[in-house]
Amino acid sequence: MNANVKEMLHTSLPEEVGFDPEDWDAFEKLASRALKDMIQYMRTVRERPVWKPIPEQTKAHFQTPVPWQGAGLEAAYSEAMEHVVPYPTGNLHPRFWSWVGGTGTPQAFVADILISGMNACNLGFDEMASTYVEMQLIDWLKGLFEMPASSSGLLVSGGSMANLVGLTVARNVMLGTEVRRRGVHREGQPTIRLYASTETHSSVRKAVEVLGLGNEAMHLIDADDAYRMPAVRLQQAIDADRRDGFKPAIVIANAGTVNTGASDPMVDIAEICAREGLWMHVDGAFGALAKISTLARDQVDGLEHADSLAFDLHKWMYQQYDIGCAIVRHAGPHRRTFNVTPSYLKKLERGIAAGPTNYSSYGIQLSRSAKALRPWLTLKSEGVEKFVTLVDQNIRQARYLTARIDAEPELELCAPTALNIVNFRYVGAGRGPEDLDELNRQILMELHQRGIAGPSSTVLAGRFTIRVAICNHRSRLEDFDALVEGVLKIARER
Ligand SMILES: *Cc1c(COP(=O)(O)O)cnc(C)c1O
Repeated sequence: MNANVKEMLHTSLPEEVGFDPEDWDAFEKLASRALKDMIQYMRTVRERPVWKPIPEQTKAHFQTPVPWQGAGLEAAYSEAMEHVVPYPTGNLHPRFWSWVGGTGTPQAFVADILISGMNACNLGFDEMASTYVEMQLIDWLKGLFEMPASSSGLLVSGGSMANLVGLTVARNVMLGTEVRRRGVHREGQPTIRLYASTETHSSVRKAVEVLGLGNEAMHLIDADDAYRMPAVRLQQAIDADRRDGFKPAIVIANAGTVNTGASDPMVDIAEICAREGLWMHVDGAFGALAKISTLARDQVDGLEHADSLAFDLHKWMYQQYDIGCAIVRHAGPHRRTFNVTPSYLKKLERGIAAGPTNYSSYGIQLSRSAKALRPWLTLKSEGVEKFVTLVDQNIRQARYLTARIDAEPELELCAPTALNIVNFRYVGAGRGPEDLDELNRQILMELHQRGIAGPSSTVLAGRFTIRVAICNHRSRLEDFDALVEGVLKIARER
């Protein structure tokens, strides 16, 4: 090309810009400050209340219009430090025990810097090292949960997505791959039935609805007094459905229910599934980790028979949000469920697009972050042994809290403590059942507002309970003492 033409074309266009800072040294200073600030934040978390209310002024701050012109990183950073960072959910704190919230680890925090810096697409067919990290991590996890090495798996956003992935494969296997072409409801085909206990997590119902099966397809089995699905009732439900012309297809077993941490009898369920030709999906969102414990692994016996297994790494594996995992025993059907390869996503033999797998053939997401680096780095740094110790530690803490509650006449346990979840409530003298529900609600909100502790709540046998789910590597025995004392103090004030 004529040099003049090139020159002319260049000068006719506006000067090109990007997001990279003009002054990298200044950027480094600010980024280092952010790093320091957040390290200090983690380091001093115990000195702060578990949670504090967000001031109205801060909420109003989020009502301003989109800035057309930037104020610069320094100013934006200061705003985040003033209005965002001081008001967390509280889950970094040693006395946070809501839902099944995870704490995160400093090791994964370091991994996050690398993840963000590399900003990988993590498609699996991009030939880049974090794909190999994820494949190795999945292999390690299969080993820890005693799933066969030939299983397939991938990281997803969390347990909800992992349940959806597992149940999609289950649906397609049980309805036949025709389902991909023709959809779920076809003339002359029996309606399928899924079985789960009444304690099953809402994400399973959501998945069933998303899959177009309709939640009426769920045959809910009443849990027993220990919040487990009785195998006998499962068998009866299957028999009754067969008699009524339904097609029993999928059993969802819980390894650790969200309310109480109880686990369904998975050895028996696996036997029933094998005999009846049903798919066994295990929701092990946090309870799957009991498999590595020395204190409670027998509770999740049979988990390894799962046809598909869903679990989280951001709960009882303590990793930063969000990270869950789906493992499927049958790699072929897994791939045949999700595989769609348009021309623009074809692998090549060499270069960037010559990666070892294609994660979008095993799930719903296409572009994904390299989140595998978080648990990979934490495992490399600390070893599985540390996780075993911490899972056991949380179980011991749950048992300790249970014993403390047992010893307090004004407190009552509301469910057996199976793993790392304790349900209790205040039952001090002279109050009726409705008063007690309201009183315990007030106690819980006061615990939060005063920043004393962060348990959550549920309803068991119709009664409001204070629910303590311990997936926290920072909790110490005295934190549970503080909870018990806090509850008693607040209750006695009323
Ligand atoms: C938390 C949880 C889920 C959902 O997982 P997310 O990571 O929140 O999507 C599913 N099942 C059980 C038993 C859970 O505890």
